[in-house]
Amino acid sequence: MDICGLETVVANSAYVSARGSMDGNTAAASRDKKMRARLKLPHITQCEHLKDQLDLDFNYICGRQPIGKRIFQQFLEEQDGFKVVAGLWKSIEEYNTSEEADRAQKAQKSVNKYFDSSSKQFCSFLEEKAIMRVKEDAKHGRGDLFKETEQQMLKYLEENALAKYKDSLHFYRFLQFKWLEAQSVTDEWFLDFRVLGKGGFGEVSACQMKATGMMYANKKLNKKRLKKRQGYEGTIMEKRILAKVHSRFIVTLAYAFQTKNDLSLVMTLMNGGDLRYHIYNVDEKNPGFSESRAVFYTAQIICGLEHLHQNRIIYRDLKPENVLLDDAGHVRLSDMGLATELPEGKDKTKGYAGTPGFMAPELLKNEEYDYSVDYFTLGVTVYEMIEAKGPFRSRGEKVENKEVTRRILNDPVNYSEKFSADGKAACEGLMVKDPAGRLGFKNNECAELKKQPLFKQMNWGCPSPPCPGLVDPPFVPDPKTVYAKDIEDVGAFSTVKGVLLDDQDKEFYDDFASGNIPIPWQEEMIETGVFGELNVWGAKGSVPRDLDR
Ligand code: ADP
Ligand code: MG
Ligand code: MG
Repeated sequence: MDICGLETVVANSAYVSARGSMDGNTAAASRDKKMRARLKLPHITQCEHLKDQLDLDFNYICGRQPIGKRIFQQFLEEQDGFKVVAGLWKSIEEYNTSEEADRAQKAQKSVNKYFDSSSKQFCSFLEEKAIMRVKEDAKHGRGDLFKETEQQMLKYLEENALAKYKDSLHFYRFLQFKWLEAQSVTDEWFLDFRVLGKGGFGEVSACQMKATGMMYANKKLNKKRLKKRQGYEGTIMEKRILAKVHSRFIVTLAYAFQTKNDLSLVMTLMNGGDLRYHIYNVDEKNPGFSESRAVFYTAQIICGLEHLHQNRIIYRDLKPENVLLDDAGHVRLSDMGLATELPEGKDKTKGYAGTPGFMAPELLKNEEYDYSVDYFTLGVTVYEMIEAKGPFRSRGEKVENKEVTRRILNDPVNYSEKFSADGKAACEGLMVKDPAGRLGFKNNECAELKKQPLFKQMNWGCPSPPCPGLVDPPFVPDPKTVYAKDIEDVGAFSTVKGVLLDDQDKEFYDDFASGNIPIPWQEEMIETGVFGELNVWGAKGSVPRDLDR
């Protein structure tokens, strides 16, 4: 073995072992104790002022924020008047996250306990009509039972429990966590592992948050390279969009910080490699996926696209290389560097952005376009998964962009025997040259696309989390394999010369480096057990020292 190969072997082994320690509850063992000790709640007097600064919207502090919700539920459980509501809430959550097969039984149990007027836990605050409907739905085994109940429950809690909560010690505990969350982050908190891939402005490495043991991917963007190649706008867009979206089908941003030379985006670690690698490099003699495997990925991609479009974001760079696999074999969209957001009231945009061979005709013709460009790229991506070549260029074909553009604008696509009739029909519907006739996003959803015969096996319709996320993946990455190029093949960057950074640049970097992203940070604290370790209350009725004013 040469020295280079050895470097990869050593780096892979360190990475695989850190990753392995994330299985089960052993993350704590791989933590850095000194850094963990720095994560501690402040005394309440240090953070009381946050009360006047934070966004205290009920749904945000008690629903969408994971720690906020936990603490609020804990508060409810300890109030005689709200104990039952807390029980109802937990039972709805359990129902929503349970396996399809257990749902009917779970539903019936909740109905007997909370919806039957003879039960001690009967929730009389729910509207009678809603109670009737839930009972009917349960009797007929219908899905998505408790949506209306949940809304009424939250409304009831906002009107009856919120004010009391804001006066409680629990709320002050929440403020303590918000204080901790707002502390600045630096690279000191992260331990880097091997390089996983190379982007336009820097490398992406695996990394570990030292204090919790959580593994992430760290995408570095070199400050000087960004400035030289006018990358600021794309970078801030990528950060803003990743911080805004929360979907299991899109990588999540957890931290944004800076070092002397780089900006860093710390996000969901996708251990399984990208779809391009799996199409071509895993089984080189037999590239491409079976149609059923392609359908699974496509369904998850559609869920990701739908979420982006509901948030007014056009992705513009969908291609196999930007779709990444996690440990279990589920996929997420990544690389929002070319994405753009449509401002409220505007439903089209203009501008050349994307990858040659994928871009939609209307974009290439420099016309105004909307979300529909992402369904053209989806068609190209589905085609490539099945055919193991692009519809408008072969792999390795030396062809000028002008010719690829000409083909996209004019040529029909050829389908081999690898496509079923349904597969061909879906690709054709997605690659319609005129966006008006293309399958896509209509009335704020992808209903028409999801109804395509190609997806007839797919159950789209259950409550959150959406179903394609609950299906067992057709391929599970091997936990001991690193699905990335050897380190020496990743390629190095040349140094950037002749770029000076000034105050204006600094302002941009400070704007970028906003630190922890609240929801993912809270999820990390809960998942790694740190939340539980810090949220200590002591004997009933006593006030913990850190909350004693
Ligand atoms: P760029 O915007 O410069 O193209 P990308 O975001 O696509 O950069 O990242 C470059 C490469 O790094 C990807 O092709 C992939 O191999 C790897 N990569 C990116 N994000 C992740 C992640 N979250 N987990 C694992 N690998 C990643
Ligand atoms: Mg990329
Ligand atoms: Mg990019």
